[in-house]
Amino acid sequence: MGYYKVREIFKKYIDGYGLTTIARNLNKRGIKSPEYFSHRKINSRRTELCKKFLWAQTSVKRILENEIYIGTLVNHKTVTSKIYKTKITVPVTEQYIHEEFLPAIIDKQTYERVRKLLESRKKSNVRASNGRAIHRYCGLIKCTECGAILIAKRRNWHDIEWVEYTCNSHHRYDKEYCTPHRIHESQLDKLIYDEVKTLMTRIVAESEKYDKIVKDWLGQKPVYDRKIKQYKEKITSLQNQIEEIIMERIADREHASIYNNMIAKREEEITELQNKIEESSQYDEVSRQKRDNLKSMADLLEEILSESKISDANLRILVMQIYVHQNEDKILDIKFEFNGDFEDSEAVNFDKETA
Ligand SMILES: [Zn+2]
Repeated sequence: MGYYKVREIFKKYIDGYGLTTIARNLNKRGIKSPEYFSHRKINSRRTELCKKFLWAQTSVKRILENEIYIGTLVNHKTVTSKIYKTKITVPVTEQYIHEEFLPAIIDKQTYERVRKLLESRKKSNVRASNGRAIHRYCGLIKCTECGAILIAKRRNWHDIEWVEYTCNSHHRYDKEYCTPHRIHESQLDKLIYDEVKTLMTRIVAESEKYDKIVKDWLGQKPVYDRKIKQYKEKITSLQNQIEEIIMERIADREHASIYNNMIAKREEEITELQNKIEESSQYDEVSRQKRDNLKSMADLLEEILSESKISDANLRILVMQIYVHQNEDKILDIKFEFNGDFEDSEAVNFDKETA
């Protein structure tokens, strides 16, 4: 199968076409499935029989999940048992992965997006109906009032066409059950774009805060180093004391418990000091990591926002759920819930130790 077809399959999937639709389309155009070719290789005289190897949902999925297209060669993926003639799938950790072994047909980013889409569509049980692209917000919007999903409807009026979402309960059982919660796709697009922009600003500000912490740290490092040295000296002195106490205990066995208490107290102090040393020496390391994570997150968001409209794939990467609440006065409140990585970028308060 040509490189071209592989790219097309990835693109179609990102554009919102379902596995079955992609398979059907390939069959319609007479494009042979990978199964057709692999079977023909085994027994060339039985090519006639192979005509039935058409594209199916699973063959499309196998293409989308195959790491070979990003130039990663996975060896040792299945083990053939000679006795039972069965194939056993080897766990990922035991596979020998050679990254960038082959020239990449699909860039890593596209591959990652497709992987996340496959996951998300599986999770939200999204299926495209008859060759149509899946609606952008399908399965993502929830009605706050009744908990139902908002469903997409294609509308048109005077040659203008648009997509709107309404509460499924209202759609099915009418107004006695729930209010419409009607919102246009274009309105959501604008809201989400602004929301992601705000999120990016927040993350950038946060990363700058950590940047300052890291930079300040360099100035404060001598102070911290001095403190660490003091802690270490204190530990040595406590250890010497313990040794002396042990000697005294030997000479004064009757009062052993008193000496034991004295030892325990000093040991406790030592542990405390050791924790302080660890904290002081790792403080900058933790801040550095946090800063780097935030920076790469901000870069990703900036890239997402560089397109005038957030792509379907990026939308699924960013957004976990959208809640629509309809007020008495019919005004809608929209709340976006972002996926873990992005949600977790909350502001932090640092108890900066005054040295
Ligand atoms: Zn509702």
